[in-house]
Amino acid sequence: MNLDFGSKYDGFRDEVKEFCNHYEGVQLTGTLGTLYGHEEIKNSKKQDLKISIQDWQKILIEHGYFARNIPIKYGGYGDELDIVKNVIITDEFSHAKIPVATGGQGIDFLVPTLLEMGTEEQKNRYIKPALHLDEIWCQGYSEPNAGSDLASLQTKGILDGDEWVINGQKIWTSTAKYAQMMFCLVRTEPDVPKHQGISYLLIPMDTPGIEIRPLVDMTLHAGFNEVFFTNVRIPATNIIGARGQGWLVANKTLTHERSSLGDPNKMVTRFNKLVELMKNESIDGERIIDKPVFRDRLMKTQGKVLALKTHG
Ligand SMILES: Cc1cc2nc3c(=O)[nH]c(=O)nc-3n(C[C@H](O)[C@H](O)[C@H](O)COP(=O)(O)OP(=O)(O)OC[C@H]3O[C@@H](n4cnc5c(N)ncnc54)[C@H](O)[C@@H]3O)c2cc1C
Repeated sequence: MNLDFGSKYDGFRDEVKEFCNHYEGVQLTGTLGTLYGHEEIKNSKKQDLKISIQDWQKILIEHGYFARNIPIKYGGYGDELDIVKNVIITDEFSHAKIPVATGGQGIDFLVPTLLEMGTEEQKNRYIKPALHLDEIWCQGYSEPNAGSDLASLQTKGILDGDEWVINGQKIWTSTAKYAQMMFCLVRTEPDVPKHQGISYLLIPMDTPGIEIRPLVDMTLHAGFNEVFFTNVRIPATNIIGARGQGWLVANKTLTHERSSLGDPNKMVTRFNKLVELMKNESIDGERIIDKPVFRDRLMKTQGKVLALKTHG
């Protein structure tokens, strides 16, 4: 579907198309690409272009195709919000054979939380390295006895002079092995009702006393980790929001997590890849896309994807 937003936006669409054409077939290098689910671009004319995932992220930001509305001083492109331009970008990218920008815990969850609730100093320090993938973040919420009932978490933080001293354990921590930083929920006020006793702390992962143990799942893949804290000391200022107000901050982060999981643009990109795959693979000498049963299923899926895109 080619959405037409009038001649005012034709020039902008042409610019995006030209960019996509220039970089068609670019392959991302480095382990982070696999970690964040980037797949090899297949069936493109220009297979020889290789760029690191970090450099690709910076190219996208420089052209305004990612972090478009985040201020320049925080490492974004700094444009005014224009929903139509954002729709054109995602529409063109979903059809092009180029990788989309990388998201993840730092970019999708923490950056919007910082923009909303961080101090100016925190925004200046953390947003740009996160957006540019120079600093990878992980999320320290779940514990062995605090999953769905997250507010029961027991990892303790005690203020000692100008430092928090943290002891306890997190579990299911995706990307912890690669992360330089963790945003973490810690019980700092043990004597108040459980939702009021939590603080939202920012922990450098190379702090002495942190041990990361990968959790190998039944596919032999270690996507999750356990993270143990033994007398981990971080500056008292590494806190978002007020002391004891971490539940409020955590829920802001979770709101962004939920919306990033259901991103309709990613769905459209995946659907287009599926169509491509069905055109290129065959069963019994016939292209899959030409087989009525598969074609019928594809059209049902397309209906759902378009509905999601229109309402998303
Ligand atoms: C792909 C993935 C990535 C993740 N990454 C991270 C991460 O980076 N950082 C992080 O902190 N966490 C992460 N998690 C953990 C996740 O956020 C949840 O905390 C966790 O999956 C739920 O906790 P649990 O496994 O202890 O399940 P439990 O809370 O024990 O729940 C087990 C089952 O019991 C049900 N249940 C629980 N309570 C009730 C109730 N009162 N009534 C009825 N049914 C109930 C649940 O619905 C569920 O089906 C990740 C999870 C997944 C799947």
